[in-house]
Amino acid sequence: MHDDVAIVGAGPAGAWAAVALARQGARVSIFDPSHPREKACGGGVTGRALALVGDAVAADSFARTIVRSARFVAAGRQWRAVNGSATDATVPLEDGALIVTSRAAFDAALVDAAVRAGARFVRARVVDVTIDARSAALETTAGRFTADVVVGADGANSLVRRRVASPFRRDQLSIAAGFYAHGATSREIVIELTGDPPGYIWSFPRPDHLAIGICAQADAGIGAAALRARTRTWIDRAGVAPGAALAPYSWPIPSLAARDYETLPLAGARWALAGDAAGLVDPITREGIFFALLSAGALADALGHERGWTPYVERVRDEAATELARAARLKAGFFRPAFLGLLLRALDESAAVRGVMADLIAGRQGYATLKWRLVKTLEVGLAWRALTA
Ligand SMILES: Cc1cc2nc3c(=O)[nH]c(=O)nc-3n(C[C@H](O)[C@H](O)[C@H](O)COP(=O)(O)OP(=O)(O)OC[C@H]3O[C@@H](n4cnc5c(N)ncnc54)[C@H](O)[C@@H]3O)c2cc1C
Repeated sequence: MHDDVAIVGAGPAGAWAAVALARQGARVSIFDPSHPREKACGGGVTGRALALVGDAVAADSFARTIVRSARFVAAGRQWRAVNGSATDATVPLEDGALIVTSRAAFDAALVDAAVRAGARFVRARVVDVTIDARSAALETTAGRFTADVVVGADGANSLVRRRVASPFRRDQLSIAAGFYAHGATSREIVIELTGDPPGYIWSFPRPDHLAIGICAQADAGIGAAALRARTRTWIDRAGVAPGAALAPYSWPIPSLAARDYETLPLAGARWALAGDAAGLVDPITREGIFFALLSAGALADALGHERGWTPYVERVRDEAATELARAARLKAGFFRPAFLGLLLRALDESAAVRGVMADLIAGRQGYATLKWRLVKTLEVGLAWRALTA
């Protein structure tokens, strides 16, 4: 069977590309062996991500936790260095800022939307992709398929990316590791900012369990086992999941450097990449679902355009890559212990700083203006100016 578009991977990027393309009348097949399945993820979906799919995925069609607040725990060394004995800081979140869902539920709702829109879902693994002047051919565990165009939406380990470009280098990935804590939930996300490794430990409440984890750049010399051990210690110290049954996970996340965003392999003759396969994840917050949906929609809009893939490449640059490159540039300064210490104290004392963090969590605070919003807030601003000068 020959399709207009064959999509490899039915995560948010692949399923959403299938919805958008099928709605345009394209003959689309989407290949994924894994559903129904969990995907290693916090499961935090920002209001801006939900807004992108709002006309296809009803708010009540999958189980979700509406998150009311973010609690920054004061257990870390940075906090103690600045505050001595410290209390946690709680940042209230507006309705609609962030939900947390299991990826089994969210991704299934997107796949259902794709099938309703007219896409064909093929429960098969793609084992090879070849592209010639006439078509793209997919060898799968359900046989051979061809299409005019193949879309690689097959995540951080993307086979399509390996065939049409090159895999992510180790320095372009981070490793996330942690546990699902079954039998515990809440209405708050819990975060500990850490300077080593630069990032944060998180607990995200799905409706019937917590997703807890930490991540580090893959070339930082700290592997999944050590990260999971760090998470285990934190679970006890922060007291986030008393009595819960812990199930381990680990998975890579594309975490590019600023210069990498200038040369993203996004599309070529008969192929395009979206979501994680294209490298589109915020290197500070690790938000990837929004960028997966955004890139999938932009790709679908561009297919068949008289300017070829150029509108897709331009939109990714303007609506995602420029911002992600800013995040990559700020990352080193953001997680520097001296800055974190001041930030944590300011979170405790300043409603303005809590407002900035609430917007950052909700994906509403751009990195271009982050510095200046913080600069207006006393010492944090001075520290930020010093760190990023
Ligand atoms: C631990 C962790 C926590 C995270 N937390 C968050 C968070 O809270 N919020 C957020 O926005 N982002 C988060 N992210 C990032 C987010 O998970 C990804 O950015 C997002 O899933 C990308 O979507 P995608 O559709 O591009 O890829 P994926 O969701 O990875 O989907 C790829 C799909 O392709 C399929 N596939 C792969 N290979 C093949 C093949 N050969 N043939 C057929 N199918 C194939 C897979 O089965 C999978 O279903 C987190 C990531 C990790 C690892």
